[in-house]
Amino acid sequence: MSERAASFHRENAPAAAIVPAEATPMMAQYLEIKAGWPDALLFYRMGDFYELFFDDAVAAAEALDIALTKRGKHLGEDIPMCGVPVHSHDTYLERLIRKGFKVAVCEQVEDPAEAKKRGSKSVVARAVQRLVTPGTLTEETLLDARAHNYLAALAKLGAEDALGLAWADVSTGDFAVTSLPAASLGAELARLSPGELLVPETLAGMESLAQSGARLTALPSIRFESGAAERRLKSHLGVSALDAFGSFTRPELGAMGALLDYVELTQVGRMPALMPPRRTAASDTMAIDAATRANLELVKTLQGEGAGSLLATMDRTVTGAGARELASRLAAPLTDPAAINRRLDAVEWFFEARDMRRDCRAALKSAPDIARALSRLSLGRGGPRDLAAVRDGLAAAHGLAARLEAAPPAILPLPELIASDCAALSGVASALRTRLAAMLADELPLLARDGGFIAKGASAELDETRALRDDARKLIAGLQAKYAAETDIAALKVRHNNVLGYYIEVPPRHGEKLTKEPFSAAYIHRQTMANAMRFTTPELASLASRIAEAAGRALEIELALFDELAVATVAEAALLSRAAEALAALDATAALAELAAERRHVRPRVDESLAFAVKAGRHPVVEAALARAGEQFVPNDCDLSADSSASQGASSRSDAPNGKRLWLLTGPNMAGKSTFLRQNALIAIMAQMGAFVPADEAHIGVVDRLFSRVGAADDLARGRSTFMVEMVETAAILNQAGPRSLVILDEIGRGTATFDGLSIAWAAVEHLHAVNCSRALFATHYHELTVLAGKLGSLANATMKVKEWKGDVVFLHEVGPGAADRSYGIQVAKLAGLPPPVIARAQAVLAALEKGSEGTKTARLIDDLPLFSASAKPEAVARESAVEQELKALNPDELTPKEALELVYRLKGMAKNE
Ligand code: ATP
Repeated sequence: MSERAASFHRENAPAAAIVPAEATPMMAQYLEIKAGWPDALLFYRMGDFYELFFDDAVAAAEALDIALTKRGKHLGEDIPMCGVPVHSHDTYLERLIRKGFKVAVCEQVEDPAEAKKRGSKSVVARAVQRLVTPGTLTEETLLDARAHNYLAALAKLGAEDALGLAWADVSTGDFAVTSLPAASLGAELARLSPGELLVPETLAGMESLAQSGARLTALPSIRFESGAAERRLKSHLGVSALDAFGSFTRPELGAMGALLDYVELTQVGRMPALMPPRRTAASDTMAIDAATRANLELVKTLQGEGAGSLLATMDRTVTGAGARELASRLAAPLTDPAAINRRLDAVEWFFEARDMRRDCRAALKSAPDIARALSRLSLGRGGPRDLAAVRDGLAAAHGLAARLEAAPPAILPLPELIASDCAALSGVASALRTRLAAMLADELPLLARDGGFIAKGASAELDETRALRDDARKLIAGLQAKYAAETDIAALKVRHNNVLGYYIEVPPRHGEKLTKEPFSAAYIHRQTMANAMRFTTPELASLASRIAEAAGRALEIELALFDELAVATVAEAALLSRAAEALAALDATAALAELAAERRHVRPRVDESLAFAVKAGRHPVVEAALARAGEQFVPNDCDLSADSSASQGASSRSDAPNGKRLWLLTGPNMAGKSTFLRQNALIAIMAQMGAFVPADEAHIGVVDRLFSRVGAADDLARGRSTFMVEMVETAAILNQAGPRSLVILDEIGRGTATFDGLSIAWAAVEHLHAVNCSRALFATHYHELTVLAGKLGSLANATMKVKEWKGDVVFLHEVGPGAADRSYGIQVAKLAGLPPPVIARAQAVLAALEKGSEGTKTARLIDDLPLFSASAKPEAVARESAVEQELKALNPDELTPKEALELVYRLKGMAKNE
């Protein structure tokens, strides 16, 4: 165990190892090591397997569904054991990590031959080389190429209100920190969706942490101490003062310190190439709480699927890094119009420059994931393919920069962001690229220790050694012919296996011959098999050892060269990380332009105003789904601009409820209310992430916070009913939304008694209008609310248009001014297939209700409406008569004239009986 790990575990581990005297030396070593890692499963390396013992074995065997066996005894009891092969352990690791385990990987750290020198019973030295946890993964096989995997740390110091939250993606080097009030924690965690969250033990019970669903690792509070954290950060950054990186608060320092500390612990002393921390402020991005994020299905649908989310619908990136960048932009729309417009300028440039877009996307396709390769190399976990990823990434970077620099004058100058990305790529690490290109072979093994990855001609010494090895191999091939001739055994072969090395093999009937004069002097017997005898000669043995020596030496040279190349690559980490960022940004930008061109999106106007004017807006996900079914989406205008100047030109209709910041939207079920609400929220998000939007025109004054209450879901696990969830979310909105916020509320108060619901909805509309003053869309079935438009100056009524045709309702999906007079719920129920008698009965009840005075009571209703009449019983309508059944069953073409006549009589008789 490293000294750091040891000190960590002194503070965390409940007890030191208790190793009974009778334990075998190996078991004693196991228990010693295991005591240092009590919270993790210990993968104990034994030859080609990682073995697990005791409780670890029981837990892992169950989690992995593998056999639980036993090995020897401990304190008189069998020792439970299970194991996984080293060559395929990644798959098992992945499953264990997904199930919430941490795994300490313990390797043999000396040659078994060395251990033997200490005595026949001595145990090979072993040590934990790495603690694998969900937030610190780096392997391609364990990571999703298109998603970030953040390790986050949360600190709260003393009585200070603000929390410090730091997060890093160990697999790419991204590192950031922010301060936030406890109330915003849920939203921030929903945005980051960290793979693992480090918290001080004292905070582990916080409700917002439990709700976030993040995987928590509780650590002693001392790990978050800001003084030690500052020292750790300075040493990580190699500086004596942090001023150059910004001024950090104590909780921020505490969070960063704990995070660095944990990374160092899990990587057992090695640090990945983390970039200097970016300090972000909550006000830089649109606040979107966890419920809103989930309701709007930004990165996942409510069913937890990626497909069908806004991200999946928008994603046209061609690299994993580009996909991660796009996801980050979508998760954190900006609030500074200048920053948003810089992104929009870049997207617009690629939108207009079609050839350039096509060429850049083609070049990007061949760009591997430099950031993740770099991280593995810096952790000593990289292989030849990671070096090749850097080589090919640099080639793509240079090609892309050259293409951008050669942009035709008509499309110059390059927009600011593209110019800076281009500068980051132009000629970056050229010497390294040339060196890697010259040194690496075409075909590369996964692991450096497999050898053969250095190109011919790259190292004279290596070429010489390889020639020696290969010459010897050729000589061996020649030996076979020589021996066959001199012994006169045509079937003699020189073969190789891992146990004997090179050997001579002859069929048994010839074997005797070689054990006798004159051959016995040179041919030495090695093995007798059922169908062969094996020999060697001093000449063959010496050639074989020359080969082994040369092969070993060649591998040694290759490994040294690998280390040199890895060091040279990691030395360029800062430039390479910036180049990787630039490639990701260009991919995301060009992909947004591609999407805009493909889906007819337009550049939104984004500024400081309080405008929200969308002309002919569409819901990007519903539109795509309808298009797949060959159907058209009906576009709709929406104008919530608080000042009328902002709304000019946004709507073509003179009677539209323009310029009123609160719209009350009524309309039948299934008419498209939710779709309209969501599409406007999504358009705001897309505009502020710097994307074009699905509309003919859009003018968005930046939204600082987005709130939605759409759809209802029980949260029974947390003891909340549907209605309770609805009210908690509504409370959050009414307590927090402000004039710069955008609020969408869908059917408040539906889950309770009619009058209670109506009253709550009524009061909520008034509060939104008078206190929150937000731009808001409020969809409701309480038509009573529409009278409020006469009283509240900034409230407008809007409705989804429908047509009635032959008693059925036809949805036009058009939003227009005015209020719906009814909900057409019964027509929709009919479309859904409710039995006709139920529909008929519902219509009767509705008519009676509508006729009744305001004070209609159910008791009176019962008097007015006779009970469900027997003639309308569902079975009576549904059941087929015997005559109908008989008719359905017969085939007229098969009837003879006589049978037909008989049938007529039979049917007549049956009709009489029915
Ligand atoms: P309810 O009141 O029952 O919740 P709703 O009025 O909110 O219904 P939505 O869920 O928004 O209705 O829409 C119902 C369906 O109508 C959608 O799934 C979609 O297929 C279709 N739809 C909605 N808006 C449009 C549109 N503008 N153009 C075409 N189809 C649409």
